[in-house]
Amino acid sequence: MPKPYQGHTPRKRFGQNFLIDEQIISQIATAVNPQKTDTVVEIGPGLGAITEELVAHCDNVSLVELDRDLAAKLQARFTPEQAQVYTEDALKFDFTRISKADHQMRIVGNLPYNISTPLLLRLFNFNRHIKDMFFMLQKELVDRITAPHNCKQFGRLSVISQYHCDTEYLFTVPPEAFNPPPKVQSAIIKLTPKPLSSLPPIEPEHFSLVVSKAFNQRRKTLRNSLKGILDDQQIANANVDPKLRAENLSVDDFVRLSKQYDPAQASNTDPASKD
Ligand code: SAH
Repeated sequence: MPKPYQGHTPRKRFGQNFLIDEQIISQIATAVNPQKTDTVVEIGPGLGAITEELVAHCDNVSLVELDRDLAAKLQARFTPEQAQVYTEDALKFDFTRISKADHQMRIVGNLPYNISTPLLLRLFNFNRHIKDMFFMLQKELVDRITAPHNCKQFGRLSVISQYHCDTEYLFTVPPEAFNPPPKVQSAIIKLTPKPLSSLPPIEPEHFSLVVSKAFNQRRKTLRNSLKGILDDQQIANANVDPKLRAENLSVDDFVRLSKQYDPAQASNTDPASKD
């Protein structure tokens, strides 16, 4: 059982690793650089380590915290003018409740590792309302999201993230910066949603299916990994060599491949698995 910290016993099931390193906290604040009129949403504010920096600079801060005990502490510590607390699950939260007309949100969070991937995938649906996002994640996950193609770490999450956002690895954070310390290194990532008008149009389900299939058997050539959903001719029509492997394709290659997919023609439409 972890020792109490600031009167709160960290809960493993909520992925609670509280930031205690002042220098890292101020490095995050410097990277975010919150401005007075920004609309900032913090996901999983916990005991308020990063929140303190946000409310010091910004008039419009909202907090989404699942743990009721922590939400109550935050409500006691910050006035409603300083920060609006939503005691809710970020995986279900409707972020349009916070976004204001023509004023995009900025999102910040030291995220629980178990919800990072589903939360990111969900946030991409709100991209038109988001200016930028700064997250503390497992370093290994940040490496994967930011990996370029032709690289071992390049995978499904890299393709989907880089389709929606510009991604930037900011800095590494060691386990000692947290209480309790996690078992792995962490890192801060910045994600900047691309303007919707600049995104090549896709059918999201087809895109996701083709990307998942290709990476499910990443060591196989596309000819084999995409068997049943795209044939050699369709792969060639997308201007992609069927002898390549998934990690050799750019995001644009995947966009073109997904346009070749025709559910009526495909022989194997098993729902793709997650990774
Ligand atoms: N930001 C704080 C706490 C990070 S720990 C700090 O840096 O010190 C992760 C936080 O996310 C915890 O406060 C945890 O209760 C919260 N959390 C976990 N699952 C969540 C969810 N689904 N929605 C919102 N918050 C969640």
